[in-house]
Amino acid sequence: VPDREVIQLYTGQAGVQIASACWELYCLEHGIHADGTMCQDNNIDNDSNAFFSSCYCHTTKTLKCVPRVIMADLEPIPIDEIRTGCYRSLFDPCTLITGKEDAASNYGRGYNHLGCELIDITLERIQRVVECCDCMQGFISFRSIGGGTGSGFGTLIQEKIADEYGKISRHEFNIFPSPKISPIIVEPYNALLATHYSMDYADCCILLDNEAIYDVCGSSLDVPNPTYTNLNRVISQVVSSCTASFRFSGAINVDMVEFQTNLVPYPRIHFPLCTYSPLIPNGKGAIADLSTQQITHCCFHPSSQLVKCDPRKGKYICCCMLYRGDVEPTEINFAIRDIKCKKALQFVEWSPTAFKIGINYQPPTCVPGGDLCPVNRAVCMLSNNSSIRCAWDRVYRKYCRLIKRSAFIHHYECEGIEKCDLIEASENVLALIKDYEEVEID
Ligand code: GDP
Repeated sequence: VPDREVIQLYTGQAGVQIASACWELYCLEHGIHADGTMCQDNNIDNDSNAFFSSCYCHTTKTLKCVPRVIMADLEPIPIDEIRTGCYRSLFDPCTLITGKEDAASNYGRGYNHLGCELIDITLERIQRVVECCDCMQGFISFRSIGGGTGSGFGTLIQEKIADEYGKISRHEFNIFPSPKISPIIVEPYNALLATHYSMDYADCCILLDNEAIYDVCGSSLDVPNPTYTNLNRVISQVVSSCTASFRFSGAINVDMVEFQTNLVPYPRIHFPLCTYSPLIPNGKGAIADLSTQQITHCCFHPSSQLVKCDPRKGKYICCCMLYRGDVEPTEINFAIRDIKCKKALQFVEWSPTAFKIGINYQPPTCVPGGDLCPVNRAVCMLSNNSSIRCAWDRVYRKYCRLIKRSAFIHHYECEGIEKCDLIEASENVLALIKDYEEVEID
């Protein structure tokens, strides 16, 4: 079992609310109570050390598991919910950092103005969590790039930890703006600024498109009007699958550096598409038993995707298949052989193996009251497919409509972001779209 520690950073409302869903799930997976104490009958073959440090609790006179996290928000409400919720004793209070005012959905306010007031304490607390690690593997950060805190303050944190911790792996899960779900008109500005200024700081960035996840809830999980809680529970299962190999023993474990080595052929082409299978609604106590072959095939179907794009119109550079539960390597090989024969799927000619496999024996854990059916096996696929450029293209077009009229620019100028910064950010994202187009040329 690998035992290299991972520190998770959650910024802004979306980041913090995703943290709630993720840590509820991690506690269940590792047999840890909401107060951090271990369940008595815990015989799970796990290495919770990757995500939890342990300390002696004087009140209960037992060992307590403490998440290796930092949550930071410029406003207090989302983190206050954690401070007063069921999991209030799980987290070290020092790792929950809040300011007094929100970033008003403005990147500049999060990066320059309010962010500067909170950055020193945030870095100091990150340093404390880092000091509790023996052999740290990397950072994973979670935020939305459409609001002000996640985009602006999140970028400031990324920049500073890149300075401070140099070569340590930095992965991101970014909520991608979706006008269908969010009321924020200036999301394209925030998203392009965050992407531009963070481009060199993240080694690998997984986009989570709220619109795609909303559709997954509606069409696959029988939840027609999902709330953020529903969306975040789907996200937590996906994140759990991506990180299971850091925490549970398996036939083939994939660490953070391996992800990067396989998925990122050029530093900028670092936005894998995430798909998850099976997505089956939670029936009445039944366990869905889809074969390895079936779940593998579903991963190549658009209804399993967490970003809206059409991979059949792009080319695959690499697919990282992360299986968990009762799976046999031979069955995986059969399934992949079938996939490779499909004419509708194109792979770039210059990438030799194209498939990287991870296998973990721990099946997914169901959250009580969750929307996903219990299963014996599941797979999460991270694939580098050039069609992800369509997601950038969508945001870029919306940005163009706003910038043409110089709409809302004065709010940004007040916070130290000039029109030329916005133009520079958009040029960088346009160049990214072109980079993906070039990857397709054999
Ligand atoms: P910030 O606190 O200023 O960073 O702002 P938010 O995190 O609220 O960012 C706004 C964007 O995040 C919008 O696109 C929202 O739809 C999305 N969002 C807000 N909260 C959540 C959440 O809990 N889950 C998900 N998936 N998206 C969220």
